[in-house]
Amino acid sequence: MSSIQPGCLWVVATPIGHRDDFSARAIETLRNVAVIAAEDTRHSRPLLLHYNIATPLMALHEHNERDAVDAIVRRLLGGESVALISDAGTPLISDPGFRLVRAARAAHIRCVPVPGACAAIAALSVAGLPSDRFVFEGFLPPKAAARRSRLQELAGDARTLIFYESSHRVADSLADMRDIFGAEREAVLARELTKLFETVLSESLAELAARVVADTDQQRGEHVILVAGRGDEVDERLAEGQRIFAILREELPPAKAAKLAASISGAPRKALYGSGE
Ligand code: SAM
Repeated sequence: MSSIQPGCLWVVATPIGHRDDFSARAIETLRNVAVIAAEDTRHSRPLLLHYNIATPLMALHEHNERDAVDAIVRRLLGGESVALISDAGTPLISDPGFRLVRAARAAHIRCVPVPGACAAIAALSVAGLPSDRFVFEGFLPPKAAARRSRLQELAGDARTLIFYESSHRVADSLADMRDIFGAEREAVLARELTKLFETVLSESLAELAARVVADTDQQRGEHVILVAGRGDEVDERLAEGQRIFAILREELPPAKAAKLAASISGAPRKALYGSGE
């Protein structure tokens, strides 16, 4: 392909499910570069074979990234063209590649995006939640305490929140979101996008959290959780939280009073702490 320039790093999106979501430009690029750096070569091989892409593969994953980056940058500086792909979707989006792109740019190597599927954007495009401003949070921390603390930090954000979640944590995360953002907050669970069991559910956080417990099929596969940003109802919860905090503060240390007031009212703990001081 004549447009493949030597010494360029091509950052190429692959499908997130449906194989046809692979652009003609992505396929041509992968056929014509000298080497493809893939997150998991065994995972990518069937897709590449399906599209008759016979380009040699090398591994670039979180465990070898440092060494692999040096080797790839050397090849790029030597004039070879290299493509970066991940297991699914857009590289760097909750996937490896950041260190490589950063090192390539620092070495004045041209980095060319070949855009395509991204689960967060696909989910947002059908969620029916405000899409003019949004925050991509990727994966929440796996441990409950760290997850809740991150959610508390996000509770006051007015932008649509987008999370990736794995099947074994989706129920716990939705329950924490219900407790911290409030039972009535609007949310969307986008599951198995572009695949056979694609499901997009729009409900309140209380309804969604209950549904994934009652119907464990809804926990299967890959999920994007989208939550509406803080609306006016949060101001009411905050006012209620402040009222409860002021009462508890009479009897308890402020940190404990804020924690209790937050869990009773659904107001963010950080917004309460100090409100009675
Ligand atoms: N780089 C990818 C992208 O562009 O979306 C994301 C990779 S990340 C390791 C994998 C996570 O993305 C999954 O756990 C899930 O949260 C989300 N995801 C990927 N494919 C999906 C799909 N088809 N439907 C819903 N969520 C998906």
